[in-house]
Amino acid sequence: MNLKNILIQLIVFIGLELKSVFSGGIRIGLICDRNVAEMQTVFETAIEVANANLEVPLLFTESEVPFGDSYEAYKVMCDMLMMGVGGIFGPSSKNSVLHLMSFCDAKEIPFMSSYIDVDSSKSVMINLHPHPSDIARAIHDLIEAYEWTSLTFLYESGDYLNILNELISLYDSGGPYITARRYDLQLNLNYKSILRRVRKSDDSYVVIVGSVETLPEVLRQAQQVGIITEDYSYIIGSMDMQAIDLEEFKYSEVNITTFRMFSPQQPEVRKLITELGYPDDDEERNITCPITIEMALLYDAIQFYAETTKTMRFKPVAMNCSDKNNYWDKGSSIGNYLRLTVAQGLTGNIYLENGVRSHYNLELVELTSTGLQKIGDWDSDKGLSINRFTPEEPILESDSLSLVNKSLIVLLAMNAPHVTLKQSTMKLSGNNRYEGFGVELIQRLAEKLGFNFTFHMHKDGNYGSFNSTSNISTGMVREIMEGRADLGITDLTITSEREAGVDFTIPFMNLGISILYQKPRKADPKLFSFMDPFSGKVWLWLGISFFGVSLAFFILGRIAPGEWDNPYPCIEEPEELENQLSMGNSIWFATGALLQQGSEIAPKALSTRLLASIWWFFTLILVASYTANLAACLTFENPTSVIDDVKDLAENKGGVQYGAKSSGSTRTFFKNSEDETYMLMNNYMNQNPSLLTSTNDEGVERVLTENYAFLMESTSIEYNVARICNLTQIGGLLDEKGYGIAMRKNWPYRDKLNNALLELQESGVLAKMKSKWWFELGTGSCTKKTEQSEATEMGMPNLGGVYFVLLIGSSIAAACGLIDWLFFVLRKARRYKVRFMDALKEEFQIVIDFSNNTKIVCSTGSIYSRNSSLTIDSNELNT
Ligand code: GLU
Repeated sequence: MNLKNILIQLIVFIGLELKSVFSGGIRIGLICDRNVAEMQTVFETAIEVANANLEVPLLFTESEVPFGDSYEAYKVMCDMLMMGVGGIFGPSSKNSVLHLMSFCDAKEIPFMSSYIDVDSSKSVMINLHPHPSDIARAIHDLIEAYEWTSLTFLYESGDYLNILNELISLYDSGGPYITARRYDLQLNLNYKSILRRVRKSDDSYVVIVGSVETLPEVLRQAQQVGIITEDYSYIIGSMDMQAIDLEEFKYSEVNITTFRMFSPQQPEVRKLITELGYPDDDEERNITCPITIEMALLYDAIQFYAETTKTMRFKPVAMNCSDKNNYWDKGSSIGNYLRLTVAQGLTGNIYLENGVRSHYNLELVELTSTGLQKIGDWDSDKGLSINRFTPEEPILESDSLSLVNKSLIVLLAMNAPHVTLKQSTMKLSGNNRYEGFGVELIQRLAEKLGFNFTFHMHKDGNYGSFNSTSNISTGMVREIMEGRADLGITDLTITSEREAGVDFTIPFMNLGISILYQKPRKADPKLFSFMDPFSGKVWLWLGISFFGVSLAFFILGRIAPGEWDNPYPCIEEPEELENQLSMGNSIWFATGALLQQGSEIAPKALSTRLLASIWWFFTLILVASYTANLAACLTFENPTSVIDDVKDLAENKGGVQYGAKSSGSTRTFFKNSEDETYMLMNNYMNQNPSLLTSTNDEGVERVLTENYAFLMESTSIEYNVARICNLTQIGGLLDEKGYGIAMRKNWPYRDKLNNALLELQESGVLAKMKSKWWFELGTGSCTKKTEQSEATEMGMPNLGGVYFVLLIGSSIAAACGLIDWLFFVLRKARRYKVRFMDALKEEFQIVIDFSNNTKIVCSTGSIYSRNSSLTIDSNELNT
């Protein structure tokens, strides 16, 4: 929106405000403590809509308070009363609602709130939320219609107990067996222990009542615990299901029925959705609609309140909270009028009987794969009416090759998560005993193609093969070839050997061989780990710099006149001068600085001080970098794995033994491979038959307890890694293949199965099934560790700059030292009236006389002694 538009809107807004002020508008206030931005938008939109039909417009004032802070809410309300408001639209927290309600009662100010469990029948408060007893009636009617004989009633907190009480009282003695469990008692939003109890109980019928804040998490955790499946049915007694993102539950086939007070398709609702800044997407609205019941009821409360201003004439008066005696004489009349008024809102008919919402309708909706679909209504007067839309029966083939009503024997082989035994406290029989990805796939195919099936479990874990030269078949393949089963399903890999004996459908899952091994462990501590922060080059250059700088100190010390000192300060005219920067002292000074300790040696000349400063700077940066990186290096666990890929395994690196399932396609892959590494591995497995396992589970067990890696199919690895936290996959896939459903050679219905499989694949059902059986059921124990950032040694690219600064600084110091020295020689030559070159030579001799740390100011035999009659102040020359 550009500036011009904003300005126009602002002018229009101010114009409207002024108009309403002059036309004597009625101000109403909103105190908001949750979803502030959304609630304010709803409030403003509702007033705008109401004002379109009003002579005396509504004006608004809004304030935000912390959730549950009733004191702050009270203060804000007093401010509003001082302004003069004709009604207060309340906060969401129960404490604040109760507090403001009693105060508004005393001041006779109409107060509107929609808290589920606040009885407004004896107060000026107007609550448009359905009464808990109505919700209980609606749930009761639905339970009756569904003929539930026992159920678990999950409720969030004490606020929802009224619903339970009412529900129980609606049944005399003959109602269903109800187990009530409160779910918000757990800390940190962890409801899993309660939900696990539901799973362990025999109840597959559950009623949940709770707020929109906790419901999404309850459903999510219920899915993790494995009770959001087709075997469970839920009635959600909250009116907020449309505001929850149901995308992840759509395909779970769980039966969820709930109520809602408004349809997201209504034009007013859609307008509100756009006002809130969401796209008005028809499809999307079936799955989630951002408008909560609280927002819808706020919108309706304003429309309801607006009805009073159509017929009643009143003007809010300013009131002082501290004045006990003043109240609004019009307040109770407005309240009474509202109790007799009928209005229309988003939630339909708004009508109160004894202060309680009456004569209204709830939509009955059910979760389907396309979102929430209306299946009936619940009327507060007439009760429940279900007119469920029955999806068309699948068009079943009627040609001669149809599978309709055919009875097939489906051979299974146990391997999680493809085929497992269903856990139940009841004794199961027949097909009911099994569950898993493969079992569900057959059920879905049967639904699509109309066949009946009986599961037979294959006795051993041998999926079998067929040898076309010897004509010998084994395992499941044999059962199918010999006609004892029509179909065979488990993690049965399509291989050329098997294809020679049986036919397969198209692959319904793709995979490859990989390595299952234990997760990398923490590396052993190193003796010289203190060296880790810097690379070898940095250490080398540090050594070179240290000696270079020490030498520079020594030389600069010798040439800098300022470093030659009078050793006996009490003698004014010393004959000898001494230099503190001997080689030893220079090294000591550099060491003191490097280790951040200092030393008693203090450079005095400009050049040596310059060099000292730059060396201090250098050591400061280096030590800081070292300390920072040392902490990272010492805490970093640096996990190391003994093997990194299949080559390491083939070489038995770290003594790791390996094997595969003895009778599976993985073993066959190694037998038939012509790759050198795989041939080597095949020989190893031939020589060590004890390393081969009869089932995948045995392989997993060995990985956990021995120094053993298991060659396994990637899908099985994924399944185990998601459940056993110290397992991981090593390296990539060694090959590519797929699982298929086996059938007799030239079985006539193969194309039918293939088509049905393709349809399931294209509609995303197979992918959903995979995520359900692999990553939802029984997972969640392995929390992902936050990735530790790797600690790396610092090299010259990181620290080269500081070395460069040292080099430049040292060069400047050297240049200073040299210039200083030349001036000193020049001054000395002038004083003693000798030639500059002679003096230079003489001084140079002194400088390079490294063994001598003292110099005689004017020794006999020196060129200066010729002019010794001149009185020379050595200090003067030195400076
Ligand atoms: N899926 C394999 C088969 O069909 C069994 C597991 C394996 O060999 O790793 O034989």
